[in-house]
Amino acid sequence: MGRFDNKVTLITGGGSGIGRAAALQLASEGARLSLVDISAKGLAVTAEEIEKASPGTEVITVTADVSSETDVERYVADTVAAYGRIDGFFNNAGIEGTQNLIQDTSTDEFDRVLSINLRGVFLGLKHVLAVMKEQGSGAVVNTASVGGIRGTGLQSPYATSKHGVVGLTRNAGVEYGQYGVSVNAIAPGAVLTPMVEEYLRQLDPDNPEEAARKFLSDNPMKRFATLDEVAHLIAFLLSGEAPFINAAVITIDGGQSYRY
Ligand code: NAD
Repeated sequence: MGRFDNKVTLITGGGSGIGRAAALQLASEGARLSLVDISAKGLAVTAEEIEKASPGTEVITVTADVSSETDVERYVADTVAAYGRIDGFFNNAGIEGTQNLIQDTSTDEFDRVLSINLRGVFLGLKHVLAVMKEQGSGAVVNTASVGGIRGTGLQSPYATSKHGVVGLTRNAGVEYGQYGVSVNAIAPGAVLTPMVEEYLRQLDPDNPEEAARKFLSDNPMKRFATLDEVAHLIAFLLSGEAPFINAAVITIDGGQSYRY
């Protein structure tokens, strides 16, 4: 018996990085999955990896843009049509945006990052929480960031969006706890995914390895988080093993945020 046997979990950003790692972890524990991403190719790779690692897992994939309300309504409707319910929601898709001083950040860039990272998370909550309230149960994990609880610099659109995710998480947890639904956020430090590789290339285009070394020198554990470590935290929060954790923002950063 797995912790997720027969549980339906919906994951956005399931086509890469942390979303893919969470999908693989939950599949190994028996979950039935609905994977959403703007990249059909990324979704196909995740589905293939799941079939290899946990053959027979029930998976549907939905290509959708989380910043579009029509697309969000569609991924929720497709999930409910396939499985009849949504037990867990990993509301995770996001982008980094460009690294710049505020004065050099274009307004279009600000709007672009906010529309995916914040509007996307809001829309996911809006349409999934309606299903969970009706069921009288559910668990949600939003992906915030250390950038959502500290000022890290050169990241005004990203930091704004992730602080917004923290606000949405606390507000949603307070609103929906009474309906048997928990809403929490994770705040990872750096995990080496395509998003962070791009961040390091922006910090030092000629020598991203050196940028990584400098970045890690501030970390108490002197390393990146592993995808497995983050996936285990997400699985714990979605598993129903600790439903009294609600409206919480849980850092997974080796202690780095306490040094800023
Ligand atoms: P990633 O780039 O590997 O994966 C992000 C996924 O989101 C991609 O598959 C991408 O196609 C998808 N996506 C992007 N825009 C989308 C849209 N409009 N609609 C649907 N899907 C879209 O990055 P990751 O590191 O796995 O990031 C996942 C989440 O974790 C993000 O919210 C990110 O901000 C957050 N995060 C990452 C780190 C880290 O160190 N990697 C740290 C803190 C927070």
